[in-house]
Amino acid sequence: MKASEIKTISIPIKALILGLYVAGGSVLAQTLPLTRNLIPFNSVAGEQLLIESKARQDYWPLSMQFVTQNNQAYCGVASSVMVLNALSIPAPEAPQYAPFHMFTQENFFNNEQTKKVVSPDVVSRKGMTLNQLGQLLESYSVKAKVYHSADSSIEEFRQLAVDNLKEPGNFILVNYLRKAIGQEKGGHISPIAAYNQQTDRFLILDVSRYKYPPVWVTATDLWQAMATLDSDSGKTRGFVLVNRGK
Ligand code: CA
Repeated sequence: MKASEIKTISIPIKALILGLYVAGGSVLAQTLPLTRNLIPFNSVAGEQLLIESKARQDYWPLSMQFVTQNNQAYCGVASSVMVLNALSIPAPEAPQYAPFHMFTQENFFNNEQTKKVVSPDVVSRKGMTLNQLGQLLESYSVKAKVYHSADSSIEEFRQLAVDNLKEPGNFILVNYLRKAIGQEKGGHISPIAAYNQQTDRFLILDVSRYKYPPVWVTATDLWQAMATLDSDSGKTRGFVLVNRGK
């Protein structure tokens, strides 16, 4: 085929591809709309914030382990599984992948120590509190330091989070009220993966991937959403720092 012929057919093909993209965009957009205070990761601006981030060490290991929560109350389990796998903690056998070992949301509660903290049935119905998240993680070979927002501050949170996001071998999970950042609607847990200095925004790798994409949220908005009362625990929400070494 001559170059001139390629040129003549390339325009309709481009139009077709663009048409499919536009149609697919409307048909496949199954997640809920975002309010303007949130920048979706799957946007030009969202990509740029990661490219310009100076605190994104945790993004790669977490993105390699990014999972969707198995049920609508399993955000804490999905987040924990991501972090344990990203830390390469010795894992139980995953029956569906035998003989390979990996943390999954199915085998997370197979450990007797884990079940003692709270049962998978209860978590499936009610989710978990911030303290339970820390205790569940510590039923494996990690240290989990829990910070309730009432005992901390936005300055301390920002400093600890940014330091953590720059370091390999440790991670940070946040427990926040979705409604306070403009999402539907209750308490939620997910890992954060990066920080952008210019905009003072954190990237949440939201484990309810059927509902929202990862978003960049300002430190102020995220802090306000963590500084809310969890009626199940009677305590404020907050964050957990997780690292190897127990
Ligand atoms: Ca880290």
